[in-house]
Amino acid sequence: MDQTPHVALLPSPGMGHLIPLVEFAKHLVHRHHISSTLIIPTTGPPPETQISVLESLPENINHVFLPPVDLPEHLPNIEAQIFITVSLSLPFIRDTLKLLTSKNRLVALFVDIFGLDAHDVAKETGVPPYLFFPSNAMALSFYLHLPKLDKMVTCEYRDLPEPVKLPGCVPVHGRDLPDPVQDRSDITYKKLLENVTRFTSSEGIIVNSFLELEEGAIKALQVEESGKPPVYPIGPLIQTGLTDGSDRPKSLKWLDDQPSKSVLFVSFGSGGTLSNEQIKELALGLEMSGQKFLWVVRSPSNKSADAAFFNAESQTDPFGFLPKGFLERTKGQGFVVSSWAPQIEVLRHGSTGGFLTHCGWNSTLESVVHGVPLIAWPLYAEQKLNAVMLNEGLYVALRPKANEIGIVEREEIARVVKELMEGEEGKKVCEKMKSLQEAAGNVLNEDGSSANALAELAFRWKN
Ligand code: UDP
Repeated sequence: MDQTPHVALLPSPGMGHLIPLVEFAKHLVHRHHISSTLIIPTTGPPPETQISVLESLPENINHVFLPPVDLPEHLPNIEAQIFITVSLSLPFIRDTLKLLTSKNRLVALFVDIFGLDAHDVAKETGVPPYLFFPSNAMALSFYLHLPKLDKMVTCEYRDLPEPVKLPGCVPVHGRDLPDPVQDRSDITYKKLLENVTRFTSSEGIIVNSFLELEEGAIKALQVEESGKPPVYPIGPLIQTGLTDGSDRPKSLKWLDDQPSKSVLFVSFGSGGTLSNEQIKELALGLEMSGQKFLWVVRSPSNKSADAAFFNAESQTDPFGFLPKGFLERTKGQGFVVSSWAPQIEVLRHGSTGGFLTHCGWNSTLESVVHGVPLIAWPLYAEQKLNAVMLNEGLYVALRPKANEIGIVEREEIARVVKELMEGEEGKKVCEKMKSLQEAAGNVLNEDGSSANALAELAFRWKN
């Protein structure tokens, strides 16, 4: 048997979960010659966006698509669908781990926050279970604190009169806590609570953040206590795969012709969707701002904000939902693309000067790495908590206000967009972002804080 350490990685459904694990695998192999296998649960044929990421990987990063599972109908939300996808895949995960252990020195199974059920299977097959936390240290701190909060609080968290104070973090109001904790009677909350209670059974927790970004939260997490696994901040792990140079996407060609830092990139991640009414307000607000924009438009959903999560594609032509005459009127001012843009390249482009984002953690880190200041427009998952941290804690984002029925109106959008791109507040936010960018550029270099944390982990496996 090959004695080189080998690691199994189990991303739960969604590009936002797959991408950081893929990047983690790349760091393991390039820096420490540790090979890996991605074990991928499915509910049908894998989406093209996933396949193209996986096919570009070096040969010592393998992947296995597990057989598709049949999800029961009428699951209440996306989190429930993700949890159940992993649970139904457990027999296949067990078989794959057994196969891997027969051929490799398997030193770890990494799961993310939806995959804790697989920890039991890992223990059964003698593989040490680890947690890969794809978001920030503040969110990790919240989840570790949740079992205690659950015992202390009787009301819904959004009704708490005082913000929740987590060690080393900016205080966060109950209404900005992650979506799955917003309804404590819901099955998703119960499942989440069960999962986070098991975080402490991990041999170690990796968090996709870095010391210089979240010093207070990370130092608090690293205080040694019995029963608390070691926490390794090894970020920013962001996607590095670039599109093929021969077929440069139209959005990038359009950016090439725009003045330096003049364009606001508008995108809601791999699955974010707005309501019909909100799309129209956003369009009119962007137009009214007079600022240049590159907008990834997805068909609206009046049902949920994460309607496209399992498959980033719009099911109908999204441009049909834009206000009448919008595309003609904004020719020259803006460029719209349907469903997907090469985000990393857009953020890296010299013409991009701001990012209106749903605050998904990958998008956030990508923006930090490229020094692009933000407008925080959180939609689902832990994005509101991220928005609080980015706006009130780090001050690298402006945050527009919604009206009493939750719609951000066009005037407010125009105001915030102008402020970010030309105003005094925008300048401050931009300066703060530049200093974080500098720090992010150093942490994965030799002797950087994240490189050292990763080396510590690799040392543990090699010995
Ligand atoms: N992404 C992209 N193009 C798009 C939308 C998203 O390349 O049009 C990538 C983005 O760069 C990021 C990931 O998809 O790496 C989205 O992850 P994030 O955590 O920001 O949000 P999620 O999709 O999980 O809500």
